[in-house]
Amino acid sequence: MLDINDVKNKAEYCLNCKAKPCTKGCPLGNNIPDFIKCIKEERYVDAFNVLNETTVFEPICGRICPHFSQCQGNCVRGLKGDPVSIGELEAFIGDMAIENGWKIKKDLKNNNKKIAVVGSGPCGLTCSAFLARKGYNVTIFEKHKKLGGLLRYGIPEFRLEKNILDKQIDKILELGIKTVTNKELGKDFTIEDLQEEYDAVFLAFGANISRKMNIPGEDLDGVYGGNELLENKNHPDYKNKKVAVIGGGNVAMDVSRTIKKLGAEKVYVIYRRAEEQMPAERKEILDAKKEGIEFLFQNNIVKINGKNKVETIECIKTELVKKEGSDRLVPIDIENSNYTIDMDYIVMSVGAEADNKITSKLNLELNKWGNINVDENYMTSKQNVFAGGDIVGTNATVACAARNGRDAAEAISKVI
Ligand code: SF4
Repeated sequence: MLDINDVKNKAEYCLNCKAKPCTKGCPLGNNIPDFIKCIKEERYVDAFNVLNETTVFEPICGRICPHFSQCQGNCVRGLKGDPVSIGELEAFIGDMAIENGWKIKKDLKNNNKKIAVVGSGPCGLTCSAFLARKGYNVTIFEKHKKLGGLLRYGIPEFRLEKNILDKQIDKILELGIKTVTNKELGKDFTIEDLQEEYDAVFLAFGANISRKMNIPGEDLDGVYGGNELLENKNHPDYKNKKVAVIGGGNVAMDVSRTIKKLGAEKVYVIYRRAEEQMPAERKEILDAKKEGIEFLFQNNIVKINGKNKVETIECIKTELVKKEGSDRLVPIDIENSNYTIDMDYIVMSVGAEADNKITSKLNLELNKWGNINVDENYMTSKQNVFAGGDIVGTNATVACAARNGRDAAEAISKVI
């Protein structure tokens, strides 16, 4: 944790660029030069208020955003040296706000309109906060006992301490937001039930079903989905076991590191492209390597073997070839490079999709990937039923989902 002198030194390193390239790299468009200027002038509450214009996740985004591909990746200081430590400065202000009880400001008075938000991940929470700030009476419906969605059930403790998340959620709820927990859409209530009581409904219940690869043996015992393992924590006993995690995103990093920490003898990450093409945050890849996870780059799994449960996997090596007419490199299997490794468990982390057991019952228009279709105002095929985040196909970082929630709140306020 930074002390105040570290913070001042890190803030002084910022050039307060007029063109704000760091802001352009931030999915939320946070006014980075201005909040850092406030820190330089020791106006910490002002720094918090500047950030609050665009985000309600300072202590969270400050910790878990892929800063090197977002704000810090665009920092001019990074051209000749290290970029400004924007994430650490943001987390510092967020933590200070929690410690000192600084409140998120309401912008408008109560307008007596009621909105139901289904789901409390980054998109649902942000939409709720910005609607509440605009004077709406917001109620969040959450299927789990606690709020947070992917932030609580998808990101392990070693990346985001849940006591920080709890405190930030409390800060958001202080805006007057009500909550109904342990209630699930499609099981305990329907959209129509909500429409009877609320002026509008915002759906942000995510897309957290691990995608399958459709390879032979995928239905054997011992094959898991990475998203489900992180969400439900129903891990098998990994002692003396070898585990292969398939994929190259942050879920693959989170789940492989979690499994290693739970005592697996060997954890492989199998990724069909090269290291520099991995979508996971650089820091997470380096941490995973330090923790002893073995990466098999340019390798792909083609078959899972076993009588009743996983016993071995068959992989193939790949080469990267430029796609015709573009600079994009695509992995092509190298003929006769197949090999077999002993394995006990496989964890699929090659992407996630919406739960069609829920979406198919909503009577809403879906796209070909099973996501809910929305128009430019985030409205679904049902009047005054809106949707955002992963369930409409956003599927990107926490900051992108939060931006989606903020934009949806703005759009809803123009219609309702
Ligand atoms: Fe500061 Fe870097 Fe942003 Fe310039 S680009 S204002 S140096 S954080």
